[in-house]
Amino acid sequence: MACVAACSIENGVPFTLADSSPVGWPLTLGLRTWVMWIEREEPAPSRLFMPFLCLQCQDTPCERVCPTRATFKTEEGVVLIDKSKCIGCGYCIIACPYGSRYKVKGGSMEKARREANLEEASKKLREAGLEDYIMKPPVPNKYAAAEKAVDKCTLCYHRKESGSWIPACVEVCPTRSRMFGDLDNPNDPVARLVREGKARQLRPDLRTEGLVYYVIP
Ligand code: SF4
Ligand code: SF4
Repeated sequence: MACVAACSIENGVPFTLADSSPVGWPLTLGLRTWVMWIEREEPAPSRLFMPFLCLQCQDTPCERVCPTRATFKTEEGVVLIDKSKCIGCGYCIIACPYGSRYKVKGGSMEKARREANLEEASKKLREAGLEDYIMKPPVPNKYAAAEKAVDKCTLCYHRKESGSWIPACVEVCPTRSRMFGDLDNPNDPVARLVREGKARQLRPDLRTEGLVYYVIP
């Protein structure tokens, strides 16, 4: 879950917002990314972990229904929300077949800060000489989570605009389970996995043509 924590910190997503709701598939959690797991009994009891995030659909249901054009696609195909145009109507939450969108409730950021008790945690870490582990404030960016607006994964697009583009979840993943690459570059390892058929779209039958692929074990 390092990816989930890194995403929340990077984008100011209130951590305590996480609750399940029957909208969407598989669950609408109130986080930009999360990790599901499947229990297996054979050949031995084990868990298969599966990170989940907005699939960045190129045939884009959430964009089609947005009445204010707050939802838009960048030249690379990243689906973003202009928070200044979002009226919080929630049409896009219903339209997304994957449960990738959620609304940040009013007051939830303050609640998360209170419950996390950052001041107390920081004091303890400082006393223990562990300053490096004190949680940093969110990186200010125009695509960060905002109260009363709808939110979703942006692939950390603000990092591209600041000159170095690698999403926070990819950066911290200790097993390199998450990769980020350029599908237009034939030498990119991610592009190679897709070309060789080793990485596949999650639900090709829905024909939303997402830019997120999974390497199926
Ligand atoms: Fe568009 Fe915001 Fe309404 Fe979603 S909630 S459809 S982004 S205006
Ligand atoms: Fe939009 Fe959902 Fe597709 Fe992401 S996964 S682009 S939020 S329809």
